[in-house]
Amino acid sequence: MVVERELTVANTHATSHGPGAPGISDAGFVERVRDAIDRQELSLVFQPQADVATNRLTGFEALSRWRLSDGTMLPPDVFVPMAEQGEAIHLLGEWTLRTACAAAAGWVRAGYPDIPVSVNLSARQLDDPGLVLKVLGILAETGLPAANLKLELTETSMFSQAAEAREALVQLRGAGIRLVLDDFGTGWSSLATLRRVPVEALKIDKQFVQAMVEDRDAAAIVQAVVALAHALDLGVVAEGVETPEQRLYLQAYRCDVLQGYWLSRPLTTDGVSDFLAKRSVIVRSIGDLGPAAGPQTSG
Ligand code: C2E
Ligand code: CA
Ligand code: CA
Repeated sequence: MVVERELTVANTHATSHGPGAPGISDAGFVERVRDAIDRQELSLVFQPQADVATNRLTGFEALSRWRLSDGTMLPPDVFVPMAEQGEAIHLLGEWTLRTACAAAAGWVRAGYPDIPVSVNLSARQLDDPGLVLKVLGILAETGLPAANLKLELTETSMFSQAAEAREALVQLRGAGIRLVLDDFGTGWSSLATLRRVPVEALKIDKQFVQAMVEDRDAAAIVQAVVALAHALDLGVVAEGVETPEQRLYLQAYRCDVLQGYWLSRPLTTDGVSDFLAKRSVIVRSIGDLGPAAGPQTSG
């Protein structure tokens, strides 16, 4: 199948040549995504987030995966930007929201009422005038309380400047859905965006978190983002936390929540059930952290 081959080619070249697959028409790609949904090639994995100070589980981020019929796994870095080039992002986005909300509603029914799911929302989805009704419809359909859904606002290109997009976010927030500014500190998510969008938390991009232990500038940026968030009464989440040292730094900097391989890789649905069952022992005990010395904070 032509689309199949183009997807694999796009995957192979994703890092060196960008994600585009010029051989696929928009309509063709929409059809391909529809097929992928029907054939259950798409799935979600869920990565836990925990309170930095107490290690308590605070939620999961839903991340999309696409397994082609030949077994090739496409990462979302490849197929999300392809979908964003046309209408397929609306189909993919709606599937992701519905699937993530259904999963989180299952966690509520299983006795975990306070474990929200975070879903990445492409800025292109905000161009859809029906988005707010779609999201509210999905909450009603799955029975998920609005407060158990967080939308992570992400974009690879420019964030939509349209007043309608901002209005949609205000309506979502008004309905009780929580908004998080993703990849904070990178290109699009700027201080100006902070004033336009009613977010409750900032997510520090992993490039800063991972450089922070070795690089004083990155450490200063992480501290400054935490200070900024708290000064604005916002929460702050660090992503890409891989080492005990990084966790110690975040604790010293008073970052609220962490996410990353140190805590857990993204989990399948079964993995989430196991994780929730062990939740009282949460994740890694602080005693596992080893003897690494903590960082110096500036202030
Ligand atoms: P993101 O939202 O910044 O998600 C975090 C990415 O970092 C995920 O990659 C996750 O698996 C990875 N990660 C988590 N912990 C660690 C760690 O400790 N170390 C390292 N090196 N990486 C870590 P993933 O799943 O490949 O997703 C990549 C990006 O694709 C996401 O970045 C997000 O922007 C986008 N994406 C994923 N799923 C969706 C989706 O359903 N919709 C939209 N619109 N975008 C999505
Ligand atoms: Ca995210
Ligand atoms: Ca990121």
